[in-house]
Amino acid sequence: MTDAQSLQDEVAEKLKEYLVANQLRQTRERYAILHAAYDIDGTFTIEDINNILQQNKFHVSNGTLYQTIQLLVQANLLIKHPFSSSAAIYERITDDKPRSYQICGNCHLITRIKSKELAASLDSYKPRTFAVSHRIVYVYGTCPKCQRRMRIQLRNNNKKT
Ligand SMILES: [Zn+2]
Repeated sequence: MTDAQSLQDEVAEKLKEYLVANQLRQTRERYAILHAAYDIDGTFTIEDINNILQQNKFHVSNGTLYQTIQLLVQANLLIKHPFSSSAAIYERITDDKPRSYQICGNCHLITRIKSKELAASLDSYKPRTFAVSHRIVYVYGTCPKCQRRMRIQLRNNNKKT
């Protein structure tokens, strides 16, 4: 069995537990949406999931798609990233290791920070009275592409004046 397949099996089992515990129906749609989300390594929008489902010739209504994604967030199977782009950004949760991200305030590009020091520091935070489910840190700023664009804009403005 491949790692990708065992990950899919593992999350399907977690979804099943969540649905049973909350007395919700186990529908084909819910599992299809979960598997589509877990096919994506990185961030995605609901539109991306819709495209995967369409490629697989699996039709779900927008309402079902939207509600299922919210359900997967509540079930701790997806992260909903908190920032103000036009479409909400989601990501699968593949392990309980700390995660840290850089977010560009201009284009909303979101990238994973791969810092062992930051991860170790987050990992060492173990509060006594608060049950931690996952650890996420966001660093806001300007991505290299936007910095370059801003420099060019500034240069062009200076030429005009
Ligand atoms: Zn940017």
